Amino acid sequence: MYIPTIGLEIHMNAKTRTKMFCACPNSFEENNPNVNTCPICLGHPGALPVANEEAVKGIVKLGLALGSKIAIHSNFDRKSYFYPDLPKGYQISQYDHPFVEGGNLKGVRITRVHLEEDAGRSLHELPGGVKTKEEATYIDYNRGGTPLFELVTEPDIKNSDEAVVFAKELQLILRYLNLSDADMEKGQMRVEANISISKKTGEFGTKVEVKNINSFKAVHDAIEYELKRQEEVLESGGKVVQETRGWNDVKKITESQRSKESAHDYRYFPEPDLPPVDLSGWDLDAMRKELPELPEAKRTRFAASFGLTREQAELLVEDRTLAEFFEESASELAALTESPNYQTLLNYLTSDLRGIMNARSMSLREAKANPEHFAHLVAMVSDGKLSSRLAKDLLLQMVETGEDPEALMEASGMRVIGGEDELGAVVDEIIEKNVKVVEDYKKGKVAALQFLVGQGMAKTKGQANPDKLREIFIKKLQ
Ligand code: ADP
Ligand code: ZN
Ligand code: MG
Repeated sequence: MYIPTIGLEIHMNAKTRTKMFCACPNSFEENNPNVNTCPICLGHPGALPVANEEAVKGIVKLGLALGSKIAIHSNFDRKSYFYPDLPKGYQISQYDHPFVEGGNLKGVRITRVHLEEDAGRSLHELPGGVKTKEEATYIDYNRGGTPLFELVTEPDIKNSDEAVVFAKELQLILRYLNLSDADMEKGQMRVEANISISKKTGEFGTKVEVKNINSFKAVHDAIEYELKRQEEVLESGGKVVQETRGWNDVKKITESQRSKESAHDYRYFPEPDLPPVDLSGWDLDAMRKELPELPEAKRTRFAASFGLTREQAELLVEDRTLAEFFEESASELAALTESPNYQTLLNYLTSDLRGIMNARSMSLREAKANPEHFAHLVAMVSDGKLSSRLAKDLLLQMVETGEDPEALMEASGMRVIGGEDELGAVVDEIIEKNVKVVEDYKKGKVAALQFLVGQGMAKTKGQANPDKLREIFIKKLQ
């Protein structure tokens, strides 16, 4: 038996207006290569960089959200290496004075988070899939010089599932803070996994770094594969080589790329073109207080305030817009009914409304249904004024028109039935007219109740909620 040890290094594209050290727009414009460039991000000699304050604010917010220590004094460093899409021959990054140190997420200690610039992109075909005659590589510098956060964890992760949980939570926090869209498939969040195995706890084996991981599933699969590969190497009497390997998502294997470089290969030194950064004038406490409620706090609060299970709270919080829509609808519902049924609200939101939106590839923001109207619909269903079948039709119309469900009913000639009182009268009338069936029911014939409910549905032209009707019949026939 071997004990796995995993540490992650995660790059995230920061969603700022401009690039890290120049005024070019921070927008990749994949179909228009090299439009967002200037002498600074193209690395022309003598061009002077200026640090982007929005990016510094972003990394500080991220650090505050992770419970980290924010460095009041920090600086940028040059990390020298050659790459065709890195025209300066070095990357401006941070070495021994990152903005963020320490902190914790999902039980994993954060080592640091630093700010750096991204490289450009090497293209092996032109945009739009245009292939050229000769074999050539093209370079698009639109991404060159855009801001990146790089987060490094301590080797605290014990298996592939924990790694996925960590990466997903980080993605969610970035989205809640509106710092990055952090879409892995789009390369806005890039995960590298450092993996080793050992026989004893507290003893580390040789680590391998796996790059090229482009989805959460790949995080899981790459770690599983690599753990197994290392185990086989050791079991057959070999040694794990310290190296960088790449995840091949087609073959589902890791492949050796190069032997691992170490810090001194990069010749780090303080960036002479940028002054050290001094944040002593920043009110970090105020910034901390201004952070939005974070996912974990929201899950706990949702579970407690609305009587949701952990899984239900998780489902809502996964999508900030959905969570906000739920919360607004819930407070409307509480205003409309004495005993608001949050489970019904949740069901209508996560299955019916989301179903409609998925079918139309529409987002909640685009859908015209507003929380007030939505709560009204749910209140009518749980008060028995509306059948769920009718509610579904109405929901569709609400999404299209942005109208209130009651107004929509009236417009199509339907009248809202009055709830318990009015249904009670309907039930009384049916009981009176169906003496024989009522007797059968009292003798224990279950189908008789179904018949009576059917009569009630006919009487209300299909509007009543059949469950509510059944409930009233049972009560009255006791
Ligand atoms: P390097 O200097 O080789 O880049 P670092 O000490 O900076 O190594 O660590 C890089 C990443 O590797 C971190 O996420 C760290 O947690 C992780 N790591 C360090 N040692 C191990 C190990 N033995 N097994 C797995 N991961 C490790
Ligand atoms: Zn530029
Ligand atoms: Mg390192």
